[in-house]
Order: sequence, then structure tokens, then C-alpha cells
Amino acid sequence: MNGPSKMPKIIPTNDAKLVNQQPAISTPTNGNPSGRSEAPWKRKQLEHVNADGSLDLSKLSMRRNSSYGRIPSETQEAKVLVIYTGGTIGMMRNEKHALEPRPNEFVRKIRKYPNMHDDVYASKRFGETKNMAPLVLPYVEGQHRRILYQITEYEPLLDSSNMGVSDWVRIATNIQQSYEFFDGFVILHGTDTMAYTASALSFMFENLGKTVIITGSQIPIFETRTDGKDNFTSALILAGNYIIPEVCIFFNSRLFRGNRTIKISCESLDAFNSPNTAPLAKMGINVEIDFRLIFRSCTMEKFMVHTKLAENVGLLRLFPSISIGTVKAFLQPPMTGIVLQTYGAGNFPTSRADLIDILREATARGVLIVNCTQCNEGSVCELYETGRLLQDIGIIPGYDMTPEAALAKLAYVLSKEGWDHEMRMLMMKSNLRGELSRERNPEMQEYDLIDAVARTLQLTSTKELHQLKSTLFPAMVNSAVIAGDVSKLSNLKGYGADLSVENYDRRTALHVACCEGNFDVVQYLLQHGVAVHVRDRYDHTPLMDAILHDHHQIIGLLVKCGAHLTGSIRAIGESLCNAAAKNLPNRLESYRIAGADLSQEDTCGRTALHMAAMHGNMAALRYLVKKEVEIDAVDYLGLTPLDYAIKLNTTPVIDFLLQKNARRGEEIDGDTKSPDSFES
Ligand code: ASP
Repeated sequence: MNGPSKMPKIIPTNDAKLVNQQPAISTPTNGNPSGRSEAPWKRKQLEHVNADGSLDLSKLSMRRNSSYGRIPSETQEAKVLVIYTGGTIGMMRNEKHALEPRPNEFVRKIRKYPNMHDDVYASKRFGETKNMAPLVLPYVEGQHRRILYQITEYEPLLDSSNMGVSDWVRIATNIQQSYEFFDGFVILHGTDTMAYTASALSFMFENLGKTVIITGSQIPIFETRTDGKDNFTSALILAGNYIIPEVCIFFNSRLFRGNRTIKISCESLDAFNSPNTAPLAKMGINVEIDFRLIFRSCTMEKFMVHTKLAENVGLLRLFPSISIGTVKAFLQPPMTGIVLQTYGAGNFPTSRADLIDILREATARGVLIVNCTQCNEGSVCELYETGRLLQDIGIIPGYDMTPEAALAKLAYVLSKEGWDHEMRMLMMKSNLRGELSRERNPEMQEYDLIDAVARTLQLTSTKELHQLKSTLFPAMVNSAVIAGDVSKLSNLKGYGADLSVENYDRRTALHVACCEGNFDVVQYLLQHGVAVHVRDRYDHTPLMDAILHDHHQIIGLLVKCGAHLTGSIRAIGESLCNAAAKNLPNRLESYRIAGADLSQEDTCGRTALHMAAMHGNMAALRYLVKKEVEIDAVDYLGLTPLDYAIKLNTTPVIDFLLQKNARRGEEIDGDTKSPDSFES
């Protein structure tokens, strides 16, 4: 299936098919990301707003992930985008008592539920616009961020049995368009095909760095007895507070890796399980996340969405005495990929030479056939001759993949244009998104390192050893980071240390490495899956640490891996003004590499150039002019940088800016000398 060839320059709220009952979190009503009205004397055109009032994402640069609302919040907040696709969770009863989806009702009703929306906080935060503003999850004890969530409702609302590839592409595209505006994503979905959607999205999302959780319920959220409220609330809490860079399914108190999940019941509230992998998190009285299990993409690339999936793939389940005609018909062109569901540990009837010949012919034609077990639990292996035979005729072992995951993976692998047949075979056997386990977990090798300490302390139980590891490893990882010792880091990893672990200030080794400035260490950590988007207690990302230490090469590397500036754009404007006031061109350059717009204003409409001019800071001034900032920017008092220089009588600045203005006049008259000439 072909996805859209070109991304539209709009965020999901402008998708004609979306029904929006709230304004986009990042798009206040007047198109001004600051959420305030423009000063009347401002001459400047908002260059990121299209003529029709929609946002042009390509021009937003730093104006993303902006804060919004009437006042800046003192509380730490997280923004979650909720995509409501349909399913039982949002259904309501009609006059005949049957369940049906009701368009445009969900948000309106949720807003009235005090345990789903905190109206007092919303009033303080958004004032009279609160009914148009995002929903606010009431305070959750023990969680550090307040969750603000925006629900985007699909039209039509779907029973998940009616969903297919085009719906997955739509969800994936909407998440891609909103990716930098939100901290996490929740998809409300029917349970029937949830495991298929989760598997497909897990492959379509390449280099995912944020949490995506799919959830739904067995009983609608608006019924008195419901599992929907817990499922939805827990998904919001997890998506807003934790970086679990996977497509997950949350159901009945457990968070699963999506592509490991199967629907096991259409009656029980415990409708899902992931038989071959433990849950990533459990929500009991406390939130327990097993960070060691989280699959982390170890590439140095930005988040991307693969919107093209091969359609001619299918599931073929063996049964005793299956006819040759059935198998033959199934394998006919245009079929390009098949998940063959065999018995037990991957066994096939060796007595059926007729079937084996047909399968051999198909693999010889280039059809990818993956062998998966019909059992819910366990893996395809070479234990029996009946299983080995399939490998001999070119059938790929699917190990412990669920049929849903194997099917989605085939659709993905077969649509990757740069991959030849050999590569596709290899990829089907490889672990791309945590969907299969081949080797034994290397975890147990670690004990020789901490053995000595354990023996000295006479610790013997597994629990004690785990406690010892979680105490020792973070300190050892940090000391290796500070020493800039990549080989020590690699040894520690080999011994089972979790490089992604957060300390009590929620800082990771990557935060420390970005302060220290050792490029190789930062690169190693990124290559080993340490998340770029983690925000510490002070709301600092690793990118912000690298900026505040002016490690330009590292900033570039982080940006390449998808890191972006967060927080209010006015706060970035203030930081730029501060840097200019302190005459720090290097800091300005740090912000620029990180994606900041050097003409960004502070809360008084002043730019870094105003501050450089006001303080007579020639180094900052030269740098900014060289970077072609707006030289005539007007602040809320109606003053340009030159006006400030004249008022404060900073002669070199006046001379420089007048010379620059004169030169610009000449350029307009046909002289096209480069602005660099001012440097001399
Ligand atoms: N038939 C519904 C669906 O999958 C069931 C559910 O939501 O649980 O959309």
C-alpha cells in the first residue's frame, strides 16, 4: 500500500478528516504560538503562518513544543496526544441498549469527569479559554508531571474489525506530524485488531524515541463498571511521565510490548497477554517499570515513519489433511510473503511430499515464507527433523514471533525498497523491534564482576544481587562517562549494566556526557539506545546540557538523532537575550545548532540583537548580523536595536549598525556583497 508521497505541512488538527473538539495544544487560536495577541505596532509578518491561518511546520524551526495557555505553568507538565480511533472504550448505549460509537461526544463527556479532567487547574492555567483548551489529568500522587492531553477524534469512529493498512498509515502519519509537539502518544482503539495495529506501527515507526501506547477496553468508559477509565488513565500517566520508546499495549494494569501481544479473551477484562516476554510495566499501587526489558533503537537516526506496506502477505494455518489445492491457491502470485503457522516447535508433516514441493517452488520464486508456531507460548526451533526440513527448503524460522508480528514484519520488510532478497531474509530472522528472541539473554554473565562484592557482603539471594547491581552500576557508568572511557562503558554493558538508568534527579548518563563534552562517549551512549528526550528534575534534556556547555559537535549529533528544543519559545528568546547580554556568541551558536531561531523574541518582544546593541557587545552583535538575524526587529516599545544603541550612546554599535544599514541599501541598489564583509 502506498502512503502519502509528501507530508502535508499541517498538523493533525488541520486534517480535514479529523474531528477536533479542542484546539491543537501547539496552535493557539490566533496562530501566535505564544498564545498572546500581537503588539499592534509590530510590523513583522508571522512567517510560519500560512495565508489561510494554518501553521507551516517547515518554518516553525524552534517554535515547536511551545508552551501555551494564558500563563506559564509553575508545575512540570507533559503533553500527550490522544488519537481516538473508535472501539468499545468510547461507545454509548442507544435506545435499544446496544453499544454504538457516538461522534463528537467523547471529549465533551470526558471534560465533565472530575477524575479525568481537573477543571480547577484548567481554570488557573487557561482562564476563560479553558473549555477550548486541552484536558488536564488530575494530580497523580508520586508522578512528577501534570498531564495535559488533547484528544483527536477520527471520523468515522471505527470498530477495529474494520481497520486496515490505510488506517495504520493515517495514525502513523498523524503521530509523525505531531511528534515534536508532544511528549507521548496514546491511541484509543478497539481490542479486536489491536495486536495487529500495534505490530504494524512498531515496524512503521523507525528510530522511535517517545512512548506510544495503544489501549481500549472491554466495557465502555462511560459505564459505571468499566475497565476503560483505568486503562486510559494509566496509558496517559505512562505516556506523559516515562520514555518507553516502543509501541505498547496497555491493558488490565499491564504494559506490554505491542508486537509481542495477543488478544486472549473476548470476555475477561484481562484481554491481552504477551506470552513470550514479561510485561514492560505493571500498574499496582506503584508504577513498576522494568527498564531492563525496554527495547531501544540503537541507530543514530531521527524518528521516521515508513508508510508503505506490502499488501500481498497472508497467514496460512496448517491442519491435519490440509489439501494440496488450498496450499497451492494460497501461494499463487501475487502473494509475496506468507506466515506459515506450523505445529508445536515449528513442525511440518514430513510425510506430505506434495506440500513440501509446493513450498519449495514458492521459496524458489522468491516468496518469503516464515515458520511460526500455532502455540501461543514458545518458539520455533530445530529440535525435530520435521522442523529442520522447512529450513532446508528456504523457509525462515520465525522463532517466538506472534503471527500478528510476523505478518506485519513481512509487510514491512517486503516493502523496503533498498533491500534485496538476501537482506529481507536476514531481516526477517533479526530482532528489529524486540519482536523476537533468538539468543539466550546475556544478562547472567554479569555476576563475575559483582560476585566479589556480593561475597564480601555475604549477599546470596537473587533479590539482593539485583539490589547490589542497581546500586553499583549507575555509579560505575557515571565514573566511566566522566573519565571519557568508552571501553569501560562497553565492559560495564557486557556485565549487564543498564546505560539508560535515571538517577534520583532523573538524569541519565547521557545528561552527564553532554555536560562533559566527550563526543565518543555521547556517540556510544546514543548507539546503545540511551534516550535523547529524557527530561531531568529541572526539565533539562541532554540537548540543553550540551547547549549550556557549548559542545557544538555534540549538539549537532543530538539533533541528528532527533533531539529538539523543548519548553516555551519565549523562554528560548530570553535565553538568547541573556547570551547576547553576556556577549556569548558561542552560546548563541549552540542555540542555533540546536534549531533555535536567532530572531526569537523574549517576553518584551526584544531579540538577542536588541540586547547586544543595548550592552555594546560587539562580538555577539557581529555574530548575530553574520547569521542574518532581523536587523530592524521592533520590540513592544517600538524600538529597534539601533534605537537602543542611540539611546545608550554605544558608538561602535551605532557605527556598525549604520554601516550595515547603508550596505543593505547598496545591496538593494544592486550591490550584492556578502554580509561577511562586515567581519573585517
Ligand atoms: N469490536 C470492538 C473493536 O475491536 C471490540 C473492542 O473495542 O473491544 O472495535
